[in-house]
Amino acid sequence: MNIGIIGAGAAGLAAALDFAGQGHKVDVFESAPFLGGQASTFPVNGVPLERGYHHLFRSDAAIISLIEELGLGDRLRWINSNVGYYANGRLWPFTSPADLLRFRPLPFADRIRLGLFTLRLQRRKEWASLEGATAMEWLREHAGRNACETIFEPMLRGKFGRHHDQITMAWIWNKFALRTASRGDGLIGKFRERLAYPMGSFGEIFDVLADRIRSLGGDVRISSAVRQIIVEDGRVRGLEVSVEGGEPERRDYDQVLATVPSFILPRLVANLPDSYLAKLTDKVYLSAVLVILQLKRALSPHYWTYVGDRSLPFLGIIEHTNFIPAEHYGGAHLVYLTNYLERGDRFYEMSGEELYREYLPHLRKINPSFDESWVENYHHHKVDAAQPIVTRGYSASIPDHRAPVPGLYLANTTQIYPEDRGTNYSVRMGRRVAAMMMEDAHG
Ligand SMILES: Cc1cc2nc3c(=O)[nH]c(=O)nc-3n(C[C@H](O)[C@H](O)[C@H](O)COP(=O)(O)OP(=O)(O)OC[C@H]3O[C@@H](n4cnc5c(N)ncnc54)[C@H](O)[C@@H]3O)c2cc1C
Repeated sequence: MNIGIIGAGAAGLAAALDFAGQGHKVDVFESAPFLGGQASTFPVNGVPLERGYHHLFRSDAAIISLIEELGLGDRLRWINSNVGYYANGRLWPFTSPADLLRFRPLPFADRIRLGLFTLRLQRRKEWASLEGATAMEWLREHAGRNACETIFEPMLRGKFGRHHDQITMAWIWNKFALRTASRGDGLIGKFRERLAYPMGSFGEIFDVLADRIRSLGGDVRISSAVRQIIVEDGRVRGLEVSVEGGEPERRDYDQVLATVPSFILPRLVANLPDSYLAKLTDKVYLSAVLVILQLKRALSPHYWTYVGDRSLPFLGIIEHTNFIPAEHYGGAHLVYLTNYLERGDRFYEMSGEELYREYLPHLRKINPSFDESWVENYHHHKVDAAQPIVTRGYSASIPDHRAPVPGLYLANTTQIYPEDRGTNYSVRMGRRVAAMMMEDAHG
């Protein structure tokens, strides 16, 4: 078979590996001038760093096994996570049950209640009945009003903006379940979340993956935007693609896999039936907007700080070099200041310089001795279609992987639910959909 894949992110490349491995001819086209999509990297002091902070959880079996398959298993470094929470004008350690007991922004009785609530939710296996409730309603009832107002509401507002009160409780449940799966064994281990980072960066995984696909006879091209999915006589026949920025040309394929965001698919293929189209166009995504500070000194003691105080203009502070040492980046301390925003939001529209200036005065709240002279450089990235909004009853609105045009398939982050988007789930989905496509062709 001849297969065309649109997008060289985790899903597209993982699928391509399996097609090439089974002896099929596969071409992957990526519109960006780099591989890796949302998990792509850029150089900092000559060392690749993700545009958006990335790590792996212990439960990320699909990508961990792919990394091992590529011979990169020894590049994974497992590290204890270290979480903080900013509330009431200061940083609170927020990693262990003892930290929760000392978390004064919540009255003591609510800390106990929240601890017990967390244990119950982490152990819960059934989630379908949570789908019909919004997280805000359910948390207010089960975790208590104070925990909801102090912790969950600011976090949901920060992550989902005006959609915060529409998010399904199944999404929150998944976050808790994931955290449990990422904890270690034994008495101490149970309270320690272990996270992994590939020391060559996620970029190295995609580079090695693309080389493996090429060595198996496949082709992977960057700067190659697909303009159209060609449908003739009621089935997919090929792609119109500007290979490496050239004039659009026709390539013939038996099957096409699109890994693009849902709203892009109808621009590439005309006349999709209304019922399928509705499941593509009703999806709302937020963009991740990141300012990455390159500092002479550490800003905070934590890897991951939730910002529960909405008077700060960012949702999270991810100090990557409290995870991977600054020496790895030529001594630079790297801090992501992150927001999830709608396109058109004031902060989305700002230039990197404007956003940096907007954020700067707030850094003293995190560390009172912070001074602008610590900043050696900063970087600005926007990652569109980064976070699909998952509302009540979401599972009924997920589009099928088999699009209603024979030979056309879709695999994107709106189809991962109840899991939240992540490289692991895109790898798993890419490989599953590749298997489905091969089965359909032979069946
Ligand atoms: C800020 C941030 C932090 C994250 N943190 C983590 C984390 O810690 N751990 C983790 O595992 N995951 C994390 N993720 C999520 C993870 O990066 C994504 O879920 C995953 O990379 C998605 O892969 P994908 O292949 O499904 O989609 P994408 O990466 O979006 O790939 C789709 C590709 O299609 C291309 N494309 C679109 N249109 C066309 C066209 N017409 N022609 C050709 N190509 C086209 C796009 O350019 C893109 O490269 C994070 C994401 C963000 C934004």
